[in-house]
Amino acid sequence: MNCPRVEVDLRKIRHNTRTIVERLAGCRIGVTAVSKAVCGHPAIAQAMLDGGAGALAEARLSNVKRLRQAGLTCPITLIRTPLLSQVDDVVQVCEASYNTELTVIAALAAAALRHGTDHGIILMVEMGDQREGIIPSNVGDMAQRVVAMPGVSLKGMGANFACLNGVAPTDAKMRALSSLANDVEGRCGPFLETVSGGNSANLPWAFGARASGRVNDLRIGEAILLGVDPVTEGRIEGMYRDAFTLVAEVIETNSHSLRPHLGCADSSLARLRLVPDVSESTRLLLAIGHQDTDASGLSMPPGNTLIGATSDHLAIGTNDATLCVGTEMRFQMSYGALMRAMAAPDIQTNLRDNRAGSNVHVFRGSGKHLALT
Ligand SMILES: *Cc1c(COP(=O)(O)O)cnc(C)c1O
Repeated sequence: MNCPRVEVDLRKIRHNTRTIVERLAGCRIGVTAVSKAVCGHPAIAQAMLDGGAGALAEARLSNVKRLRQAGLTCPITLIRTPLLSQVDDVVQVCEASYNTELTVIAALAAAALRHGTDHGIILMVEMGDQREGIIPSNVGDMAQRVVAMPGVSLKGMGANFACLNGVAPTDAKMRALSSLANDVEGRCGPFLETVSGGNSANLPWAFGARASGRVNDLRIGEAILLGVDPVTEGRIEGMYRDAFTLVAEVIETNSHSLRPHLGCADSSLARLRLVPDVSESTRLLLAIGHQDTDASGLSMPPGNTLIGATSDHLAIGTNDATLCVGTEMRFQMSYGALMRAMAAPDIQTNLRDNRAGSNVHVFRGSGKHLALT
């Protein structure tokens, strides 16, 4: 089988999605599944929809096009503010987009009129993470202008947390978002269909929320894909952490000194690094490197220690004598490692689907997204 590869268990993706959907249904919050970490892989996105997600969200237009080309017809929202240079495509493939700039909204409106459609606008409000967003005191003005603009409709408001600065959502911030939604409605009329409270980092709040106020949507990627809460990095109860496995092949084993030689020729290479335990007598070299994934985000199987990585190699210290040239090693991945592996041109994605009655789920698409089982 092709190596390196990412093995994806679609049943676990469906299970993880369903678990979150059911837990959030209690507080009337719907789930919009975010497929950006898997580059809009159609079969994985479909598994999220099959698990009960009501819609999809993507950061990149290229990923949205991949989903549409595979035949997905569900609503797709662009969660990164559209590029001014892409507005014509955005209004044709996305029902709605998150926006922070009036210039972009005006361009989307003009494009929507050109293409005979109406584009939904969700205003992204900045609530502390300081990545993107309109400052709360300007949201009312912006909303009024959107409402007055033919070609676009004001669909909602959203906020985002724990991305750039790790500012976590709190009950107080969610209440502030709710009252902002009420203010905007009071001021400009239309009912805001969507009030999207944030991403996977909002789950601890949502699971414990006594009242979710106006918040009726969360955009969830990492928690569905990896079963973890990104703030604590702990497993979410009842979720699989191993829906994705990275498989790489050993290309060299030797037992020479594991201690790196001191006195590097290039002083920029002299840096702090992990030195394997002396009990690990063998050094393995695997055919995978920085170009494929984030080596520091791979979980080492017991008895193995990451020594380091270069663009095309991964060095591991091991005390497992059965590992030899040609052996495949399996790793769980962090979000960063997963994101890079799914975008790497040399890594094949193999889908496994244990759905009763159908265990092959093939999407014919371009290049690496052609899936085998
Ligand atoms: C990436 C992203 C999400 C999803 O984040 P996860 O941590 O993967 O759940 C949601 N909203 C926005 C704006 C994003 O950029």
